[in-house]
Order: sequence, then structure tokens, then C-alpha cells
Amino acid sequence: MTTRTVLVINSGSSSIKYQLIDPDAGESLASGIVERIGDVTGSITHKHAGEKTVIDEPVPDHGFGLAEVLRLFEEKGPSLTEANIVAVGHRVVQGGHYFSGPALIDDDVVARIEEFVPLGPLHNPAHLKGIEVGRELLADVPHVAVFDTAFFQDLPEEAARYGLNRKVADTYSIRRYGAHGTSHQFVSGEISKRLGREDLKQIVLHLGNGASVSAVVGGRAVETSMGLTPLEGLVMGGRTGDIDPAAVFHLSRVAGMSIDEIDHLFNRESGMKGLTGQQDMREVWRLVDAGDQNARDAIDVYIHRLLKYVGAYTAVMGGVDAITFTAGIGENDARVRAELCRRLSYLGVRIDAAANDARVSEPITISTPESSVVITVLPTNEELAIARQSVTLL
Ligand code: ADP
Repeated sequence: MTTRTVLVINSGSSSIKYQLIDPDAGESLASGIVERIGDVTGSITHKHAGEKTVIDEPVPDHGFGLAEVLRLFEEKGPSLTEANIVAVGHRVVQGGHYFSGPALIDDDVVARIEEFVPLGPLHNPAHLKGIEVGRELLADVPHVAVFDTAFFQDLPEEAARYGLNRKVADTYSIRRYGAHGTSHQFVSGEISKRLGREDLKQIVLHLGNGASVSAVVGGRAVETSMGLTPLEGLVMGGRTGDIDPAAVFHLSRVAGMSIDEIDHLFNRESGMKGLTGQQDMREVWRLVDAGDQNARDAIDVYIHRLLKYVGAYTAVMGGVDAITFTAGIGENDARVRAELCRRLSYLGVRIDAAANDARVSEPITISTPESSVVITVLPTNEELAIARQSVTLL
């Protein structure tokens, strides 16, 4: 088979991240980022074959940014034509109730992504810009949307539905959509392959700045912690995670805060940032090591929430065979992993401290052979997952 590649695009409000991927070999051939779109000082970084090119120039809009990226591919390589680009895969955060898998982008798909802008107000408009300029500049190849919500589209009704008035919920499309699905699907799939078993009961802990946990049985998601929006669930870098919705009524009535102010507070000024002043877990640990009690308490809140979800999902699945850590904190924070696993010893979890402390970029099993649950650290690769899903539609 001749080599084929997919250009994966993650278009944000002021940035475009991209990667050219060979989905069959699982290799990244080039990657880069356009930053500070619309700002007075922009920059474009392109990496290929060990060479890094940085252009500092204003990038007025997404169209200009992507055109510059395409120019860099021709100038610095690899040439997209020679690399046999067969599709462009776009990451889309919120697909609403329409998409349970990747979708070939046409005007109808664009309209559906637009329809769910209210539930992805930060992300979907930015994705639409990326899709629009992508279809214009790379008109000869199919464009595919890969949704963060798709893996959770078929959650059992009991997991997807809130205890909210049915008429209101259905009229306004209020249900649990989940997020990070591409990562949860990729990671659980890789664990199945590693362990050579299709029937696993798995818990995937995607712990990045945004964080979510899923329960996966035999490759199918049966629970996930993010809900209508990515606000629900775990304590995150800047998000509260689970909180009694009555806190909203209370802040509105007693503190006189507006809905937008509360939205900002819950999504950006809470979580580790709101508890400690630091959003980045490395900085939180620095505070802990310097004797900061608030930071220690915040870590305890973080671990406690994780522990509750692991317990709940083990109950939902009637057991658990494999628990996997991924994303920035999951892949790098040995202390979080050790503290959580220590508190899972009641399940028969045993970890090898040396393996847990080792710094590697490969998947690594950190449980001992005696452990009743296989604990793995596995780097997520959402770009590769998007590339692979994109070619399934060709
Ligand atoms: P996202 O994709 O959600 O922005 P990532 O998965 O890249 O996030 O994770 C970023 C977060 O990972 C950082 O904010 C930081 O808290 C955490 N992180 C990265 N490296 C380490 C590390 N060595 N130790 C602890 N936390 C880390």
C-alpha cells in the first residue's frame, strides 16, 4: 500500500494546531501551531524532520494562518501532494446528539455543528472557522469532523439522562454528552490490544487541564464524568467539576452575580486555580512542598473526587479489570497516581513504586503481577485517533 496521510486540524479561537499523520504506520510526519490569531503579534511554528521553523508575524485571521501553514508545508516539507494527503480531519468538541462517529463534512454537517454552538460556545465557532478555511484552501480532499462527544453518544439512557423534568430536558436537548471521547476511545482501545482482551471492564482517567473519567465495557462507553458541558465531574485546572447547581441560585440571589460571571467563576476561576492560585499541577505540588496547607487540601479534594468516581464506576460495571492514566497529569504526575492507587488497595490494587516513578514516554504497566487490576500509564494521542477515524470514511 502506498503511504497516505491525513492533515489533522484542531482549530481554536486564537490558534490552529495541526499535524500531518500517516494513519497506517501511526506516525506523525510534521506538526505545528499558529498562535495569537487576531492579535498584533502572531506566530507560526512548523516542525518537520527534526527542523523547527518559526515565523513571527501578525496573523489577522484563520484563513491567513492556514494559508501560511500550507506555504510552509511546500517550502519546508513535507509537500502535501507528495505525502499523498487523502483527508483533513477536524477536531470538534460538541457534536450534540447527532454524531456517534466521524462525519464527512458537508453543508448539513456544518449546520449541525452550528446548532450546538450554545453548548460549545468557546469551541464550536472556532472549529467552524477552521472547517471553513480548510475546505476553501484544501478543496480537493474530503474533510472529516471527529467529535469529542461521539464515543459517548450511545451511553445507556440511565447514564445519559439527568433527573430533570423530561419535557424541559428534551425540548432543550439537555442530557449528558461527555467530552474527551476521542481520547477515552483511543486509550481504552489501546489497552484492549495490549492485554489482548475485548471484554474488559475499564476505567480511563484522562487527567489534563480539563479532566474526565470514563467507564468502558467491551469497547463501549457506559459512563463518563463530563455532562451537558465539560464542567461536570472531576476537579480540573480551572473548573469546579461537580457542584450543587443550587450554588448558582445562591450566588445569583445573595452575591448578585450575573449568569456570565458565575459561568466564568465555575469554568475558569475554580478547580485547582481557584483553590490554590495555581492552575498547573506542577505549581500546586511546589506549594505543597513549601508547606502550603490550602494546596495540600486541594490535592486531597482532587484525589477524593477521583476516588469517588473510580468507586462509582466499578460499581456500575460490577468490577474493574484495568484502570489507565492519561493526559498531562495522568502521564506525568507519579504522586497523584500513587496517592489514588494507595487508596484503591481495597480493590486489590497494588502498584510497583519504581515503575510508577519511572519517567517514560511509552505505555507502562505500573501494577504488580499480584494486583487484581491492571494499572497502566498510556500517553493519549488524539491526533492519531482523529487521523485513523478520518480514513475509515474514505
Ligand atoms: P489539556 O490538553 O487539557 O490542555 P494536557 O493534557 O496537556 O492538558 O495537561 C496539561 C496539564 O498537565 C498541565 O496544566 C499540568 O497541570 C499537568 N502536567 C504536565 N506535566 C506535569 C508534570 N510533570 N507533573 C504534574 N502535572 C503535569
